[in-house]
Amino acid sequence: MTPIDMNASDLPAIQYTVWPTDLHGHRFQVKLHIANPDPQGQILQMPAWIPGSYLIRDFSKHIESIEAFTAGSSRKKITLERIDNDQWILSDANSAVDIVTTVYAFDNSVRAAYLDTERAFFNATSLCLMVKGQTHVPCSLAITPPESVHAESWIVQTRLTSAKTDARGFGFYLAKNYDDLIDHPVAMGEFQIVRWNSNSTPHSMAIQGWLHPIDVTRLTNDLQAICSATINLFEPKTKRPLFSSYLFLVNAVLNGYGGLEHRNSTALLCRRDQLPQKDTPLDEASYREFLGLCSHEYFHAWLVKRIQPKAFQPYELSNRNHTRLLWLFEGFTSYYDDLQLFRSKRINLGAYLKLVSDNWNGVLRGPGRLKQSLADSSFDAWKNIIKSTKTLQMRW
Ligand SMILES: [Zn+2]
Repeated sequence: MTPIDMNASDLPAIQYTVWPTDLHGHRFQVKLHIANPDPQGQILQMPAWIPGSYLIRDFSKHIESIEAFTAGSSRKKITLERIDNDQWILSDANSAVDIVTTVYAFDNSVRAAYLDTERAFFNATSLCLMVKGQTHVPCSLAITPPESVHAESWIVQTRLTSAKTDARGFGFYLAKNYDDLIDHPVAMGEFQIVRWNSNSTPHSMAIQGWLHPIDVTRLTNDLQAICSATINLFEPKTKRPLFSSYLFLVNAVLNGYGGLEHRNSTALLCRRDQLPQKDTPLDEASYREFLGLCSHEYFHAWLVKRIQPKAFQPYELSNRNHTRLLWLFEGFTSYYDDLQLFRSKRINLGAYLKLVSDNWNGVLRGPGRLKQSLADSSFDAWKNIIKSTKTLQMRW
């Protein structure tokens, strides 16, 4: 369990506990405590997709084992019946129960879960079962440090609300409901952390990956200006964002690129050579691309996360959520991501127009616009087609 304890009476009726148990085998163990299961039959379900990445992922496929027990001292195994690919039912749950799962986590993208001897990362959509009928109620997430010599210096980075945590960030967090829980990615490990204020609001970037010391001055100056420009765009009257703090979680790797937006944080994947490091040559075009990714996902904190298609209200996580507006929301965000670099004076007009012409040339070279409208393309986004390398480089 966590080294920190909380009184059971202070915890909500839905409690998740996450243990990074098997670093070498890439397995988390997760306990779900349900104080008041539905006596008529409590259904549990894994999400089929994660908001912001519009493809059916079927996260249940990574569950290696699942068992149910009566909660408390008289722990007794109870029957849990699988009723669908990603759904289970507890038929005779008249009092509190614990569901224990082992989940394989070796997906290095920003949309799933990962665990090895260097780092842990997860979105709750990959680890935490939905308690059907109770997804609207508050829940807690206890994060336990791994019992491994590899992880003695690990700390936790997330924007979940802390309830009771130790100096390293392990312990109890609270979420308003399941949607709030899955909107807060969690990273563990060693980080280089840079901090700044944009419009008097604390922002930070926590970077993982084997890097030389980051050029903190360069990075904070650029991010401070970009975030400030976006706050001023969306909040012209108050000049204050709708969140009290914001976190960029960055995983720097040999080869990779992508991001996933959340209401007060984002998870980013980039190449190590895209980040400014002390005493290391920097390819300015690659760094500009990284800043564009930061700008894009930060813009989403408003557009898509707070201003969104009706089809996403609420997100329905067991099925495709079709909308014809996806490319309006993604398109506006993509238009603004580079424009905000110019407006915040990170690039000059010539460099900005070059980015516009590159994008425009890319559109003209492809035949897609002659075959399908943007609205139809949005509706079809859920088709699991094989995407080209160019598409995979896009910011979502
Ligand atoms: Zn996007």
